[in-house]
Amino acid sequence: MDTETADVIGHDVTTITCVCGNTVSQAGLIQANSQGVPVYAGGSTSRPAELAEWPADEDLYTLCPTCGRVYRDSIVEETGTAPVAFRVDVTAGPIAEAIQAHWNLST
Ligand SMILES: [Zn+2]
Repeated sequence: MDTETADVIGHDVTTITCVCGNTVSQAGLIQANSQGVPVYAGGSTSRPAELAEWPADEDLYTLCPTCGRVYRDSIVEETGTAPVAFRVDVTAGPIAEAIQAHWNLST
Protein backbone atom coordinates (compact mmCIF):
# COMPACT_ATOMS: atom_id res chain seq x y z
CA MET A 1 0.00 0.00 0.00
CA ASP A 2 1.36 3.38 -0.94
CA THR A 3 1.89 5.87 1.82
CA GLU A 4 -0.25 8.95 1.43
CA THR A 5 1.54 12.24 1.91
CA ALA A 6 0.04 15.61 2.70
CA ASP A 7 1.35 18.93 1.44
CA VAL A 8 3.30 20.93 4.00
CA ILE A 9 5.33 24.14 3.84
CA GLY A 10 8.65 24.69 5.55
CA HIS A 11 8.71 21.77 8.01
CA ASP A 12 5.78 23.34 9.87
CA VAL A 13 2.92 21.07 10.93
CA THR A 14 0.55 24.03 11.12
CA THR A 15 0.86 24.41 7.33
CA ILE A 16 -0.26 20.86 6.55
CA THR A 17 -2.89 20.51 3.90
CA CYS A 18 -4.35 17.12 4.72
CA VAL A 19 -4.82 14.55 1.97
CA CYS A 20 -8.56 15.21 2.38
CA GLY A 21 -8.03 18.96 1.78
CA ASN A 22 -8.49 20.15 5.35
CA THR A 23 -6.18 22.82 6.81
CA VAL A 24 -5.73 24.72 10.06
CA SER A 25 -7.87 27.53 8.70
CA GLN A 26 -10.67 25.21 7.61
CA ALA A 27 -11.80 22.50 10.05
CA GLY A 28 -8.53 22.84 11.94
CA LEU A 29 -5.84 20.37 12.96
CA ILE A 30 -5.48 19.02 16.49
CA GLN A 31 -2.38 18.05 18.43
CA ALA A 32 -2.63 14.42 19.44
CA ASN A 33 -0.61 11.66 21.07
CA SER A 34 0.83 8.53 19.53
CA GLN A 35 -2.61 6.88 19.65
CA GLY A 36 -4.21 9.78 17.79
CA VAL A 37 -6.03 11.00 20.89
CA PRO A 38 -6.18 14.80 21.15
CA VAL A 39 -3.98 16.07 23.97
CA TYR A 40 -4.75 18.68 26.57
CA ALA A 41 -2.50 21.67 25.94
CA GLY A 42 -2.94 23.26 29.34
CA GLY A 43 -4.73 26.41 30.32
CA SER A 44 -6.91 27.68 33.08
CA THR A 45 -9.22 24.69 33.30
CA SER A 46 -8.30 21.22 34.48
CA ARG A 47 -7.88 18.51 31.90
CA PRO A 48 -11.17 17.08 30.62
CA ALA A 49 -11.31 13.31 31.06
CA GLU A 50 -11.70 12.79 27.32
CA LEU A 51 -8.36 14.40 26.45
CA ALA A 52 -4.98 12.73 26.76
CA GLU A 53 -2.20 14.20 28.84
CA TRP A 54 0.55 16.10 27.07
CA PRO A 55 3.14 13.41 26.21
CA ALA A 56 6.10 13.54 28.57
CA ASP A 57 8.48 12.85 25.71
CA GLU A 58 6.95 15.63 23.58
CA ASP A 59 6.31 13.09 20.82
CA LEU A 60 3.35 14.85 19.27
CA TYR A 61 1.16 14.03 16.33
CA THR A 62 -1.21 16.13 14.28
CA LEU A 63 -4.73 14.81 13.83
CA CYS A 64 -7.03 15.85 11.03
CA PRO A 65 -10.47 15.87 12.68
CA THR A 66 -12.21 15.65 9.31
CA CYS A 67 -10.83 12.34 8.03
CA GLY A 68 -8.82 10.90 10.94
CA ARG A 69 -5.45 10.92 9.24
CA VAL A 70 -2.60 11.45 11.70
CA TYR A 71 0.83 12.93 10.97
CA ARG A 72 3.90 12.66 13.20
CA ASP A 73 5.23 16.11 14.05
CA SER A 74 8.86 15.03 14.37
CA ILE A 75 8.82 13.55 10.85
CA VAL A 76 7.35 16.73 9.40
CA GLU A 77 9.86 18.90 11.24
CA GLU A 78 12.83 16.78 10.24
CA THR A 79 11.99 16.00 6.64
CA GLY A 80 9.62 18.73 5.49
CA THR A 81 7.24 16.05 4.25
CA ALA A 82 4.04 14.83 5.86
CA PRO A 83 3.44 11.12 5.32
CA VAL A 84 0.28 9.77 6.93
CA ALA A 85 1.44 7.91 10.05
CA PHE A 86 -1.87 6.15 10.68
CA ARG A 87 -5.60 6.75 10.69
CA VAL A 88 -8.13 6.79 13.49
CA ASP A 89 -11.92 6.70 13.60
CA VAL A 90 -13.08 10.27 14.23
CA THR A 91 -16.78 9.50 13.84
CA ALA A 92 -17.36 7.54 17.02
CA GLY A 93 -15.77 6.36 20.24
CA PRO A 94 -13.18 7.95 22.50
CA ILE A 95 -11.40 9.95 19.79
CA ALA A 96 -14.65 11.53 18.60
CA GLU A 97 -15.42 12.46 22.21
CA ALA A 98 -11.93 13.89 22.69
CA ILE A 99 -12.28 16.02 19.55
CA GLN A 100 -15.54 17.39 20.90
CA ALA A 101 -13.90 18.13 24.25
CA HIS A 102 -11.04 19.87 22.44
CA TRP A 103 -13.38 22.19 20.59
CA ASN A 104 -15.39 22.86 23.74
CA LEU A 105 -12.19 24.09 25.40
CA SER A 106 -11.09 26.30 22.54
CA THR A 107 -14.40 28.05 21.91
ZN1 LIG B 1 -7.93 15.07 6.61
